[in-house]
Amino acid sequence: MSIALNLHGADAVTGHWIGGEHVVPAQAEARDVYNPAQGVAASCVVLGTQADVDAAVACAAAVGPAWADMPPVRRARILFRFLQLLNEHKDTLAAAITAEHGKVFSDAQGEVARGIDIVEFACGIPRLLTTGFSDQVAPGMDNWVLRQPLGVVAGVTPFNFPVMVPMWMFPIALATGNTFVLKPSPTDPTPSIMLARLLKAAGLPDGVFNVVQGDHHAVEAILRHPQIKAVSFVGSTPVAQHIYETGARHGKRVQALGGAKNHLVVMPDADLEQAADALVGAAYGSAGERCMAVSVAVLVGDVGERIMPLLEARTRALKVGDGMSAESEMGPIVSAAARARIVDCIDSGVAEGAHLIVDGREPGSAVGGERGRHGFWLGGTLFDRVTPQMRIYREEIFGPVLSCVRVADAGEALDLVNRHEYANGVSCFTQDGNTAREFSRRIEVGMVGINVPIPVPLAWHGFGGWKRSLFGDMHVYGDEGVRFYTRQKSIMQRWGGDKGGGSAFSMPTPS
Ligand code: NAD
Repeated sequence: MSIALNLHGADAVTGHWIGGEHVVPAQAEARDVYNPAQGVAASCVVLGTQADVDAAVACAAAVGPAWADMPPVRRARILFRFLQLLNEHKDTLAAAITAEHGKVFSDAQGEVARGIDIVEFACGIPRLLTTGFSDQVAPGMDNWVLRQPLGVVAGVTPFNFPVMVPMWMFPIALATGNTFVLKPSPTDPTPSIMLARLLKAAGLPDGVFNVVQGDHHAVEAILRHPQIKAVSFVGSTPVAQHIYETGARHGKRVQALGGAKNHLVVMPDADLEQAADALVGAAYGSAGERCMAVSVAVLVGDVGERIMPLLEARTRALKVGDGMSAESEMGPIVSAAARARIVDCIDSGVAEGAHLIVDGREPGSAVGGERGRHGFWLGGTLFDRVTPQMRIYREEIFGPVLSCVRVADAGEALDLVNRHEYANGVSCFTQDGNTAREFSRRIEVGMVGINVPIPVPLAWHGFGGWKRSLFGDMHVYGDEGVRFYTRQKSIMQRWGGDKGGGSAFSMPTPS
């Protein structure tokens, strides 16, 4: 089966997806959607209102009971068809990501692939919903638990993974029997509608998956809607905290994943060529606009002297260009505003005395070409001698800026990382098993890599940081995702046995 995805067709205006239809309200406010490699507005997206959220939730609530009652194996079959369609159309999705986000096409393909992983996991939902049964907990009595869906749930997602992050959420939410309202980033909204079309083509009943485009107004309507039972959020930390607090105040279950400042510690015994390759790929891949990007290199002992020439050479050689060019290693920054904010951070690093080794404010000739002339370009920036007091160390820059901090030993490296308010990902490069083991055990960060720069857990393990990188109790996807989107019901049942024994006034016990 092959379906039209309407990538460059009638959707010059990206609308909502409500009740199985693409909806562009007549009086809707709209916002430009840019192609960041060209620096031009290529289309626009409507901005949802309270009325749009109400309409989406009404559709989701109306079909919710039938969807929740459908046997999990039948819900899984729809997801299997969705999986097949995703695989057929994965490059179209990746091209849509590159067009609106700017990341290089091969990276966008990787994003789609990591989203597909979650759908594959969710296809196993009949097994994932299998629960425990205790026979004969008292004479003639059994006790077991069910995990039941919550009802209508919502996801609010960031610009940097317009396919993968929604797919951290909705495949598991749908598989567990919930209906879903997605509020994507208005920066790159097209993939959300493509996913909705694929779900419909896979046989998902209308109303089970809905999209409301927009900004914080749509989010506020979601947070306050009495029929929405849970909200999954991924984005920056101030917004994550607001979502967590407001959602909880309105009686919702919330998982809110926030920002990051990921360190990569290089021990003196590490293979420095390998570590330099890892640092440059993890700092500048996707222009540093990844929540798992490495933005701090912690150089232990004499590593600073030895690795800095390797980092400088690699940063200068970085090929910055249009994401659809096979040669490009790094695309543009997502928006003019983001570029201006990153430049401001670099300026502050210089003003505060960090050593600027490579200045990305001058991306050089690599960008070239008429097509890219007006895009939001930056090169990779490399700082040495950064200290923990500097703004470029404290704040998430979310751009292609690598800050190197020098420390004396492993203990100092551990303390440095553990003192940071963010704790999403961290990595340690070493050839010593005991150093690696101690580091993994003592580091206070949610996701740890040993000789792995970006340790994003696989679909069945769940993703999430600690401290101000995650508000809430459960990570996204994996078993924790199944728990997040379901609630436990314990059933205790007796047939026959101890009837007519009279009222019992003391606490019942098994014996
Ligand atoms: P953002 O916080 O600006 O926006 C995220 C979502 O929240 C968007 O849908 C946006 O429309 C909405 N939003 C923005 N401001 C809001 C407000 N005041 N009230 C309610 N809703 C609001 O984030 P972004 O710039 O789109 O994405 C980048 C951020 O996301 C970075 O901080 C990055 O670290 C983080 N991120 C974290 C993870 C993770 O897993 N921890 C993954 C990806 C991105």
